[in-house]
Amino acid sequence: MNAALRPPAVIVLGPGALATAQRVKALYAHAQIHALQDRAQGDVAFSELGEHLRELYRRGTPLVALCAAGIVIRCLAPLLANKGAEPPVLALAEDGSAVVPLLGGLTGVNVMAREIGAALGIAPAITTSGELRFGTCLLNPPDGYALSSLAQGKRFVSDLLAGDATRIEGDAPWLDHVDLPRDAAAAHAIRVSPHVWDGDPAQLVIHPRSVVAAVRAPHERLADHVQAALDERGLAAASLAALLAPAALMGDASLAQAAAVLHVPLRFVDQADAANVADADHDNASRLIEALKLDDATLHADDAHGIALAVAHAPLDAATLGQARGKLTVLGLGPGRADLLTPMARAALDDATDLVGYATYVDMAGPPRPGQRRHATDNREELQRARHAFELACEGRRVAVVSSGDPGVFAMAAAVLEALEGADDPRWQRVELQIVPGVSAALATAAQAGAPLGHDFCMLSLSDNLKPWAVIEKRLHHAALADLVMAFYNPISRARPWQLDRALEIVRAVRAPATRVVLGRDVGRPGETLRTMTLGELQSSDVDMRTMVIVGSSTTRGFAREGTHEALSEWVYTPRFYAE
Ligand code: SAH
Repeated sequence: MNAALRPPAVIVLGPGALATAQRVKALYAHAQIHALQDRAQGDVAFSELGEHLRELYRRGTPLVALCAAGIVIRCLAPLLANKGAEPPVLALAEDGSAVVPLLGGLTGVNVMAREIGAALGIAPAITTSGELRFGTCLLNPPDGYALSSLAQGKRFVSDLLAGDATRIEGDAPWLDHVDLPRDAAAAHAIRVSPHVWDGDPAQLVIHPRSVVAAVRAPHERLADHVQAALDERGLAAASLAALLAPAALMGDASLAQAAAVLHVPLRFVDQADAANVADADHDNASRLIEALKLDDATLHADDAHGIALAVAHAPLDAATLGQARGKLTVLGLGPGRADLLTPMARAALDDATDLVGYATYVDMAGPPRPGQRRHATDNREELQRARHAFELACEGRRVAVVSSGDPGVFAMAAAVLEALEGADDPRWQRVELQIVPGVSAALATAAQAGAPLGHDFCMLSLSDNLKPWAVIEKRLHHAALADLVMAFYNPISRARPWQLDRALEIVRAVRAPATRVVLGRDVGRPGETLRTMTLGELQSSDVDMRTMVIVGSSTTRGFAREGTHEALSEWVYTPRFYAE
């Protein structure tokens, strides 16, 4: 019912719950089964229930937990003191015999309980009085509407529960089939209106988000000015559907800040479109609204602060008003395993409307979010991919460009910046660009081995696709002379079969055969291997393109690990201290 909600996570602690979980999963598009590791097989595995539930709850994911209600309550208890928007949380008996809505009364938990109850052929354990009596939660209007005052709403519902009848003023189509005690002459009224509640205790005011505010210029007190314009017309701030501005101002921080203060999306109209409307003053906020061509909206022309308002007859979908500022996030997925993906990168992936990248990495990002588009290519042309990402972002989309490891280490971030610097399309500069770091292969491999990068080191790509081989040889020679630990990316490939041997020859001319070497293959991925050896022992046949090669310095050393299997028999580290 609430379209803004994410698909639920169905939590399973053992195989006995899987059949019921599957039935719930089938009810919701893109729902996923999260199963306790080593106990049951789901779409997502987790190792610690409490931590996992809290993380999902913080992200606003609806939870259907197939376990005792008490377990769920205890897990989430530390988060409940902060009264913020809470997602629906339900406990469901493993065998599907009982469903108990626990939290999220205002985000549709009872709706979900009814849906699950209906699918399983059981009565949901609804405990909300208003909901029981009227069959719906009056305080949870559908998308596009906002309650004026929750406190007043609660008082109003308790009046109805105590026997008062109500009339309905304005358009409330979602209440058409609700069993309310209605009376056209009642003192109580549910009023659907963009105008502010006047404080009358007999009224429940619900605001349709039907107002657009347009601004023509940035201003540090923009939110105050918009609020003043609304006040002057008696319009409620909660009725605001969007803040509208000229596309040329997309990068302006004061606009973004005003929209955040007003809790509305910021949308833009291209001035060229606005100018087409008529031949009046181009610098006019009203003209931005006219470009939206809203049917039957009442327009309030620019005020002294250059703010114009339009009031439509029904809620407006902000996504259809002009366009959003596009966003381009270049992020690193880390080496592969989910727990080495930073929360910041995870959030950017979840937020993205489009993922762009090499097919292997796009797959590594996990299952797509509902509606998310994936542009996976086998194309190695990085600049072309970067340009494609900018084109998408210019349409107002939120694009995540994904690389493995860190995006700034032999990956997409530099290509994206190069594309931007060379761009002649001014719209590219207005895209909100962000680079989110990741755990690079050298760091992930080093951590597995111990601390081989504990002193000065360098990262080198042995690929001569983008630089002449002579440059690589020169850098290898100097790095070897400088006694730097070296991390080799792209050490070898089918198209570059001899280069690694030549590189090792250069290093061996300077470094002793006893120099420590670490090889990490598919680190942080299924089938990962880690080997340590000496430079003298290393052969290019030990290495492939999925391998990270770390060649130690003269001080890099190793010692035996206790109680580990053969392959991980020693710790390798480079001491912090270095003597001449
Ligand atoms: N941006 C990536 C590097 C891309 S270059 C990063 O920061 O990690 C690709 C090279 O990185 C591969 O040829 C290999 O040498 C190394 N590499 C990437 N992922 C790896 C992994 N999981 N295990 C070992 N080496 C890896």
